[in-house]
Amino acid sequence: MQYQPIIGLEIHVQLKTKSKLFCGCDNRGEDAPPNTTVCPICMGHPGVLPVLNKQALDWGVLAGLALNCAIPEKAKFDRKNYFYPDLPKAYQISMYDEPIAINGLLPLEIPAPKGDRRYADIRITRIHLEEDAAKMIHNSTSPPLNLRGGREGLPPERSAAKLNGLRSYVDFNRAGTPLIEIVTEPDLRSPLEAKTFLQELRRIMRYLNVSDADMEKGHLRCDANISLQPILATPDLPSYVRGGTGGLHPKTELKNINSFRAVERALQYEIQRQTKLWEADASPKIPTTRGWNEKEGVTEEQRSKEGSEDYRYFREPDLPPLLLHEIAKEVRGKMPELPRAKRIRFQEEYSFSASDALTLTEEKLVADYVEKTMMELRTWIIAAEEEGAEDEKWGRNKQKLVRLFSGWFLSKLFGLMEKHAVDIRLLKITPENFAEFLTMIHANRVSSAAGLQVLEEMLLTGADPHHIVEEKKLEQVSNEEEIATIVQNAIEANPQPVADFKAGKQNALQFLVGQVMKTSRGKANPDLAQKLLRKLLRPLAK
Ligand code: ZN
Ligand code: MN
Repeated sequence: MQYQPIIGLEIHVQLKTKSKLFCGCDNRGEDAPPNTTVCPICMGHPGVLPVLNKQALDWGVLAGLALNCAIPEKAKFDRKNYFYPDLPKAYQISMYDEPIAINGLLPLEIPAPKGDRRYADIRITRIHLEEDAAKMIHNSTSPPLNLRGGREGLPPERSAAKLNGLRSYVDFNRAGTPLIEIVTEPDLRSPLEAKTFLQELRRIMRYLNVSDADMEKGHLRCDANISLQPILATPDLPSYVRGGTGGLHPKTELKNINSFRAVERALQYEIQRQTKLWEADASPKIPTTRGWNEKEGVTEEQRSKEGSEDYRYFREPDLPPLLLHEIAKEVRGKMPELPRAKRIRFQEEYSFSASDALTLTEEKLVADYVEKTMMELRTWIIAAEEEGAEDEKWGRNKQKLVRLFSGWFLSKLFGLMEKHAVDIRLLKITPENFAEFLTMIHANRVSSAAGLQVLEEMLLTGADPHHIVEEKKLEQVSNEEEIATIVQNAIEANPQPVADFKAGKQNALQFLVGQVMKTSRGKANPDLAQKLLRKLLRPLAK
């Protein structure tokens, strides 16, 4: 028997608003000392009232629209009750049956091997807004460094002995941070698809500028639901189109997945584990909650999750219902171009390959850089070419320039940025200067070898490429052959001055150098031109 994995995801995305969801506390508590960005509201003191952060609501709706969701007329907050040390109010303000976005769709391009599906439309069930809980540090033998506070006076051995009983610590800075929870339909069919979905979701959240969506930092947290469906072994059909035969078991909810690699590995592990269960028992039915143990590379059984009836959801009485119609209309106008649209446009407009387009649009800042450089290149080529209308000039040079760009940007500049640990945010090379640099390569003013030196110097100093080329004399060395040709032409075209020079008139040499400078439009190095003229005219002088 063969089995088809059926995977759905629940993703929490931390919104990077200035303040928390229901109070004015600084929302960047992850960088602050523990328990310092708190107030009576996010600490759940009696009698306080929550006030909704409008920015968080706008961004939640924006995320919903970006994922092609319908925005309902109305949404409301509910209290989700549970008792745990990370939840000071003993309830979380969340949304139960009236979320801010429903029925979405994320088209996915999957870098799958041949035979597996390369495209899939992943349906989004819903998106809701909720507050985050505090952060807990479990089973610590000593308090985290920045939580030590009052114990500082104890000698280390004594402090360690006292704490051998393993304790947990709570940092409330995160309590009350705005989250959007995104729930997908079980439409994913492999660990690779799940990873690809999360990567695309991260790109979208970053393009929207609503979250840093850094998985390692917990800005984007993912739980995965996975079960197996037995399928008929019809080898000529790919598994994802073969009909299932019912029996969608056992359902596992995977927790603690905090990297893209972990998503793939945890799901792969779970497929193996569940396959063994199926092989031992025709229809294993017990659902479990399991945590991913990164160090051991296994999933482990955890406390079973409460069902929604255990949470005793009820309407949050301190917050009015939300009317979303106007907000959706307003926010829709602020939608930026999204990663997928940009990828497609980069392929169509500049003829980048699909994989180059993916790399170049991975980060919006990089994509913006690419487009600015392209605009500069266009302006330059229009100024440099004599024949034809603007679009014609650009059109006939575009392919060559795009190829030049891909090579120098993706392999060489990215390589140098990695070598010098420079991020696009810290890159000193302006798009104007990078475009100028490419035009110098395009016009053969610098060779590839010299070009790499120029580029590295640009990266380190932010200087103009032509200054670097002049200062480091990189042009003349690489162009000696070119100048030699021009010199030869000048000799052939000016027999009288040549004869004068041979007869001893030094002025004639200056005239010939001037001719070389004119032909090379001032780009030739005059010293080199003079040297070459002397060298070429000397044997004839004998
Ligand atoms: Zn607060
Ligand atoms: Mn949640």
